[in-house]
Amino acid sequence: MSTITFEDGQLRVPDTVTIPVITGDGIGVDITPAMKAVVDAAVGDAKHIDWLDVPAGQAAFDLTGEWMPQATLNACRDYRVSIKGPLATPVGDGHRSLNVALRQDLDLYACVRPVRWFEGVTSPLKRPDRVDMVVFRENTEDVYAGIEWPAGSPEARRLFRFLSDDLGVKQVRFPCSSAFGIKPISRDGSRRLVRAACQYALDHGRRFVTLVHKGNIMKFTEGGFLQWGYELAKEEFPGLVVKDVITDAFLQDTLLHPENYDVIATTNLNGDLASDQLAAMVGGVGIAPGANINYETGHAVFEATHGTAPNLAGTGQANPSSLLLSAVMMLEYLGWQGPADAITAALAACYRQGVATLDIAPADGQPCSTAEFTQAIITKLDNH
Ligand code: NAD
Repeated sequence: MSTITFEDGQLRVPDTVTIPVITGDGIGVDITPAMKAVVDAAVGDAKHIDWLDVPAGQAAFDLTGEWMPQATLNACRDYRVSIKGPLATPVGDGHRSLNVALRQDLDLYACVRPVRWFEGVTSPLKRPDRVDMVVFRENTEDVYAGIEWPAGSPEARRLFRFLSDDLGVKQVRFPCSSAFGIKPISRDGSRRLVRAACQYALDHGRRFVTLVHKGNIMKFTEGGFLQWGYELAKEEFPGLVVKDVITDAFLQDTLLHPENYDVIATTNLNGDLASDQLAAMVGGVGIAPGANINYETGHAVFEATHGTAPNLAGTGQANPSSLLLSAVMMLEYLGWQGPADAITAALAACYRQGVATLDIAPADGQPCSTAEFTQAIITKLDNH
């Protein structure tokens, strides 16, 4: 067992490192082995990753009767850095999203999603080359905290009575048929997220940070995020340019003027919605990587932005790029910049030459299967 430690705010990474890996549901069985094969080829002999397969999702349920076994959560905690394929959220009462469970249990408060275009990838934009952003989405608060009750439930009725009787709330139009959700946004949660975004901007020579919010409507939650974000930036990053934009304007403006945006810091729901649009601008979720990080403990889980793609499961046509680029982020996080750069260069070369899976392939090109695409990347690594 070769464990990563975290001392004085720094990861200590041995040359041989154990990384827990969740294969995932749906297309996970195609893209996760593809990711491992490419990473192993790029890491070479000087360093080594011991992949520790840990179950979650359908595979875990079949094996243990649990969707997210405690042993899997423990492995992700103990080994500190892990990577996962997509997990289906079981639909029905009482099921917490497995992804949300993992993020909340390890307090992975920053969801980091870089968005950039690779030459050769089809995009709906006229100038996709102008897209180069990194989204910091708050990952533990907001309506995603999972505090909600179904319409007609005793809890919903009780909450309504409290709102109405104790707080004088009169705006619930249909009390008997209303479900209720709570949107907690805190000063502490907003500050640590904005701190992570600002620190990233500083460390990577980025131009500025934009706070994306709906503070015009939700004065205290989204407005609080905005106010606390500015406060934090002023106190801790006085030289950094920080600005803000309202979410709807942001979504429009990123399509029209993507060059206006660099590092983005935003709340949970905004970040979720924005991520898919930004991904579509550079080729879709098949090529959109992500990481969930707690910069105060070093815990991190790397994962693709997309889900299990049930329509592609078993077809062998899924694009492994999103998970592969998530692995690139993981290698960078470990400080293994050489293999990270080699994978990015091999992937870029494939796309430049029109070698791509169905979701990305040019209209006049011949799409590759997941296996063919993976082999093409490995061949490019070998020729490097
Ligand atoms: P999805 O991301 O699975 O699919 C949306 C679209 O993108 C589909 O057309 C799909 O074919 C395409 N797509 C996704 N990944 C692709 C890839 N690698 N290559 C090519 N095309 C790809 O979203 P969905 O259909 O809304 O969700 C399906 C399941 O995934 C749900 O159970 C959802 O809860 C879960 N989900 C999991 C995660 C996660 O694990 N982090 C994220 C989102 C959704």
